[in-house]
Order: sequence, then structure tokens, then C-alpha cells
Amino acid sequence: MPIIVNFDKCSGCESCLESCPFDAIVIKDGKAVINEYCNACMTCLAGCPEGAITEVKEESQSPEKKKQLEEYKDVLIFAEQRQGKVSSVALELLGVGRRLADELGAKLVAVLLGATETEAQELIKWGADKVLHCSDPELQQFNDDTYSEVLAKVVNEHKPSIVLAGATPVGRSFIPRVAAKLKTGLTADCTSLEIDKETRNLLQVRPAFGGNIMATILCPDYRPQMATVRSRVMKQGEYVGDRTGEIINVDAGKISSRTKVLEFIKEVSEVSVNLHEADIIVAGGRGVAGENGVKMLGELAEAIGGALGATRAAVDEGWIPYSHQVGQTGKTVNPKVYIACGISGAVQHLVGMTSSDIIIAINKNPEAPIFNVATYGIVGDIFEIVPMLTKKVKELKG
Ligand code: FAD
Repeated sequence: MPIIVNFDKCSGCESCLESCPFDAIVIKDGKAVINEYCNACMTCLAGCPEGAITEVKEESQSPEKKKQLEEYKDVLIFAEQRQGKVSSVALELLGVGRRLADELGAKLVAVLLGATETEAQELIKWGADKVLHCSDPELQQFNDDTYSEVLAKVVNEHKPSIVLAGATPVGRSFIPRVAAKLKTGLTADCTSLEIDKETRNLLQVRPAFGGNIMATILCPDYRPQMATVRSRVMKQGEYVGDRTGEIINVDAGKISSRTKVLEFIKEVSEVSVNLHEADIIVAGGRGVAGENGVKMLGELAEAIGGALGATRAAVDEGWIPYSHQVGQTGKTVNPKVYIACGISGAVQHLVGMTSSDIIIAINKNPEAPIFNVATYGIVGDIFEIVPMLTKKVKELKG
């Protein structure tokens, strides 16, 4: 508890009760007592007229604690595999992990559970110095219980300073458990990761308050510093075919789990949408005004060889399934070309597509915020422009 009450000074006047937004102060035997709801927001310090409430000197400032933190050194990434193949988000984590490790003068370590040694070799070529590989058949299929147990064990043994994982359904499902087992913090869905030049702590940047601000989150007093990153937000590492590194076989020990995976069934819509892989995305917003508008965009997407994306507004209207949604609560995409049709450019949509190489916006409102991020902008009606584009593409192809 970083806040304490000096009982000698406390008169039990109750002024502090109102100052606490978390109802974390109660009066017991005429004295203020801080309970487990305290969030260490420090508001009560100014709320006490006697100056009886004070902040405790952080434990981290003690040399002993500092020494403990310094034992944690490397950058570790969790290399997610799907059906034995390392996923693209793992390669993106190797990209950002390599940069962070070089800046810290540390090693980049990848943890691979359940895939073959060939995949471990690939991780080295994509930038890892070391791969901690556990080929136990129990780990071939993802399972919350077993994955969190094994990763926590590996982290405890290896003591990395930073642990990164993909903000995929797998990462989102088990990484919080790992953080809880390790008694450390976790920042989900980071969009940028940097090293603080002075303190050498990890600066974890992510959208907050519905995407209206970017928050920089720190975990200065505990290790490891843990973060998840959505796929396609970071660039992949550099592939060097003759890069060498160390592969260490990890013994998972006796693995216990309360659940068992019976079968793996791929979601049908995921197969057909494939927004993550698409080089070109034609996306529609409320401006498409119904299923006919979506059909029109589908024709352009087909002619140009792209996939169909959508805003939440178009999804909520029921014009297009959720699996097409791009943005904060949808997919993050990184195509070569993103054609935004009848999309205003709300921040929640932008966070999912601004890392596209080229953004072409078509909107009849010249003030629409989408034009602020667009490489090329066309002010006009999509129902005139999109059919013209489709015709032109077909002509050029034909
Ligand atoms: P609008 O904002 O209504 O814009 C429609 C645009 O179409 C306008 O700019 C208009 O000028 C233009 N237009 C209309 N007719 C035509 C025409 N004929 N020709 C050309 N232009 C035309 N949104 C997402 O997209 N993805 C998310 O993941 C997401 N997550 C969210 C999470 C939270 C917590 C919240 C609060 C919101 C989220 N949203 C998300 C919603 C987001 O805030 C916006 O409401 C949404 O993106 C708006 O979609 P839109 O641009 O299609 O619609």
C-alpha cells in the first residue's frame, strides 16, 4: 500500500472520506483506515487538513529492489504458431523486439511451444538470438491452462526484462494469466513500443478512452514489463537466411490442464475475408447506404483483386458481416492500398488502417477527417466514382 495514515496526526475528522473516488477510506476507532480498494491515486493527500495521510517511499527506490530489477535483462517474444506454422504476428514481434533488444544491448529470445525445430530455425533467421523451444505434443494445440503454465515457468527461469506477445485471440486469452502468475503488469494492444532513454524502461503506447487519447504506460517497479501488440501494427523483422543462433530445448515438465481440445474448426468467414493477407482493401462506411452499395464495392474489390473491409457503422447497420470490420474493435490491417469509400475517418476506424502504405479516400464531404490521413483524396459521390473506377480497372486489365 503506497499510502499510509499517521494515527498520531489523524483526528478522525472524516474530511478524507469525500476526497477518495474509490471509497477506499473508512473510519475505524476514530481514525482513518485505508482499505484494499485504494488505487494509489493520491487524491486523499490534499483532502487531509492535518497532513496525516502520506505517500510511502516506493520500494523500488531501495537498492535491493533496484538490484532485483536489474537481474531481468533480455527481450522475450512469444512466437505464436497456428497448426505448426509460426504466425505473421510472431515475425512482427521479432521486428520490434530486435530493435528494443539492440537498444538495451540485450538478447532477443523467442519462445516457441508445440511446433517443429524447422520453425525454431526460421525464428532465428527472422531475428531471434535464441529460441526456447518446447516440442511437447501436449502443446501443439493452444490451451489456456498449459500455455500459461509453461510460459510463466520459462519467464521465471529466464528472467527477461520485456515480454511481448500478439494481441490475437490466443494472446488475449492466455497472456493476462501469465502476467497474473508473474505478479506483474500488462499493457494490451500497444501501437508503439520504445525504450525510455533515461530510465531504460519500456514505454508502452496504446489508445485509451475510446481511442481519443494515446496513453504511454510504464511498469517501472515490476519485471518483466509485458505488452501485447495487434497483428499488422509493427513491421516484420529482416529475414537473413544465414543468420545463426541458439535453439534450447525446454522441458515443460508434467503438464496439467482442466480443459482438453477435442477438435479445431476454422471459422468459415475468416477464410473468405482474409483482410490480414490482402494487399488491397476496398472498405465501405455508412456512405454505402445499404447492401447495393456494398455490392458495388465488392465489384471494385473483385476487379482490383482486393478484399472488402467495412466500418463499424456499416456492420451495425447489418449491411456487411462483422468479420469485415476494420478498427479498434475489428481488425488491424496493413495493405499496400486502402480505398476508403463513404467513411468519415473516426479515430476508432483509423487505428485499424492508418499503417496502410497508400490510402485513397472517396467522400462527398471535403471536411471529412479521413482526408487528413489520405494519400489521395477524391471529393465526390461514391455511387458515381466507384463504378467509374471499376470500369477503368476492368478496361486496363482486359
Ligand atoms: P459516418 O461517420 O456516419 O460517416 C459516413 C461518411 O460517408 C461521411 O463522412 C459522409 O460524408 C460520407 N458519405 C455519405 N454518403 C456518401 C456518398 N454517397 N459518397 C461519398 N461519401 C458519402 N468504427 C469502426 O469503423 N471500427 C471500429 O472498430 C470501431 N470501434 C469502435 C469502438 C468504440 C468503443 C466506439 C465508441 C466506436 C467505435 N467505432 C468503430 C465507431 C466509430 O466511432 C464511428 O462511429 C464509425 O467508424 C463511423 O463509421 P462511418 O465512417 O462509416 O460513418
